[in-house]
Amino acid sequence: MHRGLDGAPRSRAVMTAYILAIDQGTTSSRAILFDAEGAPVARAQRELRQAYPRDGWVEQDPEDIWTDTLAVVRECLDRAGLAAEAVAAIGIANQRETTVLWERATGRPVHNAIVWQDRRTVELCDTLREAGHEPLVRARTGLLLDPYFSATKLRWLLDHVPDDRSRAAAGELCFGTVDSFLLFRLTGGAVHAADATNAARTMLFDLGAQRWGPDLLDLFAVPAAVLPTVMDNCADFGTTDPALFGAAIPIAGMAGDQHAALIGQACFEPGMVKSTYGTGCFALVNTGTDRVFSDHRLLTTMAYRINGRPTYALEGSVFSAGSAIQWLRDELGLLAHARDSAAMAASVPDNGGVYLVPAFTGLGAPYWDARARGAILGLTRNASAAHLVRAALEAQGYQTRDLLAAMAADMGGPPRALRVDGGLVENDWVCAFLADINGLPVERPAVTETTAQGAAYLAGLGVGVYTDLGAVAKAWRRERRFEPAMTVAERDRLYAGWTKAVGRVLHDPEGKEL
Ligand code: ADP
Repeated sequence: MHRGLDGAPRSRAVMTAYILAIDQGTTSSRAILFDAEGAPVARAQRELRQAYPRDGWVEQDPEDIWTDTLAVVRECLDRAGLAAEAVAAIGIANQRETTVLWERATGRPVHNAIVWQDRRTVELCDTLREAGHEPLVRARTGLLLDPYFSATKLRWLLDHVPDDRSRAAAGELCFGTVDSFLLFRLTGGAVHAADATNAARTMLFDLGAQRWGPDLLDLFAVPAAVLPTVMDNCADFGTTDPALFGAAIPIAGMAGDQHAALIGQACFEPGMVKSTYGTGCFALVNTGTDRVFSDHRLLTTMAYRINGRPTYALEGSVFSAGSAIQWLRDELGLLAHARDSAAMAASVPDNGGVYLVPAFTGLGAPYWDARARGAILGLTRNASAAHLVRAALEAQGYQTRDLLAAMAADMGGPPRALRVDGGLVENDWVCAFLADINGLPVERPAVTETTAQGAAYLAGLGVGVYTDLGAVAKAWRRERRFEPAMTVAERDRLYAGWTKAVGRVLHDPEGKEL
């Protein structure tokens, strides 16, 4: 029992209200320390090594994920000048779907992690789809039958690593996404668990029943013995092995990165959308206790599960967002820095009829056309570099409108709020255009590291730093609100041009695969 200066017993949460968030992303691992008010006080980051062993294959070494995570946590505590005892709890947010299989007895991975982008199971997915299994998968999991999700990656590991299948059935192996793997390692092998949002991205989790689906396990030939226990997003996930950081720290929150960002943006009411603009764009709308099935090719997923109560979301992913700006900078040399794009876009009065469809790797939601490729349309002899840059920034708005329109149609009403984050929204011009083209106020938070913030909020809820989601919503701070200023006629005219441009690049208007 801890005692305060007056000798009275104190709960750990009151004494030590720092929360440490681990944000283990696809390209980097970060740790951010937040104070009791939710303000970041120290951070550390490491880039993660990627391996591309064959065309379409993407792997990471789980030992790198682990050692980077340990290093950033230690660096972050060092920078803050704090000992582990000062941390009330750890929250974990992570890249989703990436699949790890390891030995229960030793914690040793049996293979590299297969990363979410990996397409090695595309034929297996085709076979299952042709055999008519997609409706079951969709009804149970809210997902589409695609290599993106963990189930076929796990099956690949079980089928290809010698002895894996028999060892898995005998309970010698543990499967997990990165949340589970980190938790297992952090607790010194004591806890094999996942949270509901990460579980929902495996394609093995029955969303309605909130448990692993026996028919899904059969379909993907996965033995139940490899699966982690599924827990709420705020829960007692165990404590860190004291040997790691010098003291045992409770792990009290866990969520997949996009879900953590939804929480970090305090989107707790149905109809609230968070949209993250990095390399790609990921938008989630809270649908409350309704598990909405999309007629517009959005995915049904968990928003979060707290106190055993699931809250659902619809998700739309766009593959190329900031990557369009990178392309203008690195391949075309039109920009010295990404941030120069705002001034260039503003240097012309309008887009001059120029549209850029950034379908570099196909189109994601709501088109799902893997074979579509990018295009620049509407060029005249007056078109300039500034028009191209403007078109790339405008594309962020149009792609968002595509997603919000799909969400509105599925939910039977427009979203209530659009909260944005990610590197690209430092660009004021983009935020203003997002507001204009969607006819919706756009809110930018004070803390733009919303993924880490969400993990910290969850952990803070878990140990009582926050009493409930209402307290988290009060802690969320807006930096700026962008009001729509464009007329409806102008908004619709510009968007009609985009719709036409997308129509020109679609390879397969029906869409087939992610
Ligand atoms: P990720 O986490 O996916 O690597 P970030 O959230 O760090 O991405 O965002 C980086 C992306 O945002 C890059 O693609 C970059 O081109 C773009 N970007 C960053 N700042 C700006 C800006 N001021 N204007 C336009 N694009 C920007």
